[in-house]
Amino acid sequence: MEQAFRQPEQIVIIGGGLVGSLLATLLAQSGYKVTVYEWRPDPREKGHQRGRSINLALSDRGWRALAAAGIAEAVKEIAIPMYGRMIHPLGAPPVFQPYDNTGKAIYSVTRGILNSALCKEAFKYGVEFMFGYRSVEVNLQTCQVTLQHLKSNTLTTVQADILIGADGAFSTVRQAMMRLDRFNYCQHYIDYGYKELTIPPDAKGQFQMEKNCLHIWPRGNYMLIALPNIDGSFTGTLFLPFEGEVSFEQLTSQEKVLHFFRCNFPDVVMLMPLLVEEFFNNPTSSLITVRCQPWTYRGKVALVGDAAHAIVPFYGQGMNAGFEDCRILTELLNHHQGNWNTALRAYERARIANANAIADLALMNFIEMRDYVADPKFLLRKKIEAHLHALFPNEWIPLYTMVTFSHMPYSQAMHIGKIQDEIMQRVMQTENIEHCWQNLNFEAIKNELMQKI
Ligand SMILES: Cc1cc2nc3c(=O)[nH]c(=O)nc-3n(C[C@H](O)[C@H](O)[C@H](O)COP(=O)(O)OP(=O)(O)OC[C@H]3O[C@@H](n4cnc5c(N)ncnc54)[C@H](O)[C@@H]3O)c2cc1C
Repeated sequence: MEQAFRQPEQIVIIGGGLVGSLLATLLAQSGYKVTVYEWRPDPREKGHQRGRSINLALSDRGWRALAAAGIAEAVKEIAIPMYGRMIHPLGAPPVFQPYDNTGKAIYSVTRGILNSALCKEAFKYGVEFMFGYRSVEVNLQTCQVTLQHLKSNTLTTVQADILIGADGAFSTVRQAMMRLDRFNYCQHYIDYGYKELTIPPDAKGQFQMEKNCLHIWPRGNYMLIALPNIDGSFTGTLFLPFEGEVSFEQLTSQEKVLHFFRCNFPDVVMLMPLLVEEFFNNPTSSLITVRCQPWTYRGKVALVGDAAHAIVPFYGQGMNAGFEDCRILTELLNHHQGNWNTALRAYERARIANANAIADLALMNFIEMRDYVADPKFLLRKKIEAHLHALFPNEWIPLYTMVTFSHMPYSQAMHIGKIQDEIMQRVMQTENIEHCWQNLNFEAIKNELMQKI
């Protein structure tokens, strides 16, 4: 049965994940009437659904958007600061690498808990959530969405004045836009999959490893990482090729899984009592990059978050970039005094190149995480860059810091990062650099960067 109803001044958001919930709050705070249609059940009742990352790293861009919604302090209560990477080389003791020489941190948050907190906040401002509704057809011309109610299987058509696609990497709103003339789209899967595995708390409920860091076991072609959860557990994520000599397709039996972990991750295997069970029960998920343009249609439809720009997780920026979309979109709406047409055009002009930049940076960071973080030459380069940053805090800002601890547009960070890379590649060729790096002409290095940017 199909029914249609019109709600004046109605903002409809498809997808009540992290980005949809935050945007709903920000828009409701600006006085809009917002309804969110979300496929899944209410996260406040059901907690986290399997299949997506269980926890995520929240950094400055995300915090700024949460602060704009007035919920940064509440989220801090459920977040664990991670001050650096704890690298676990094979056959050697772990080494701590701080993210920043002034003690800055990124924060581990549990997806389900964060989503639930965001929904609760949205409720406070009168946002209506319709859980268990899946968007199945989007008509961009009329701004109508047909939704399937998953329990009753009935179809409902809703009318939006403004329609926002926050329905993730496989967005139905974007799919409708793909049928438009001159809509550019590309998607790319990497050859790696990921699987999540739990490191539970010990018998006393305590963390079994150092809590305030992001653990990485870099193994060249693959890696394991682990982020802390507030219940004392860690969620480990194994990134491994789908196919090939060392790959998911090879790990077909209990013996093979145990052998693989004992050989490659001997210090963590005994901390995972459910390793084999989880390995075979948890999904092996794929990693996609999505780029598209435009993100808006006729001043009435817009894409945000992964619906507009799904990226691989290796810079820990997907959610942060999505939260930044929300902040910038609402700032532009306020700036243009509620003129959606102008604000949406300004929004996509401000965001698309930056989304493409962070997509590239995220792909590049995979190589750094799985391969270079244990390489002495790479570590020396990081040390030299940290020294440059300490000497010239406003002039030489390492790429990771620009991306993670600043609000500089991602495309600008990438541009500066490329020039730094050229300079540092040359610096690292200096004879005997391991021993004489402190004698480098740091002023000249900084000046070269200043001239080139
Ligand atoms: C392994 C992994 C690790 C990650 N780590 C980090 C990290 O450390 N830091 C970081 O910033 N980002 C990280 N990310 C990225 C982050 O998960 C995403 O960028 C973020 O979840 C995007 O939020 P979103 O709300 O746009 O999309 P989603 O989280 O995908 O939410 C979309 C919502 O829409 C709903 N939906 C989908 N289709 C429909 C439909 N047809 N009808 C109705 N509802 C629908 C879904 O149920 C979902 O609730 C990671 C991603 C992965 C895969």
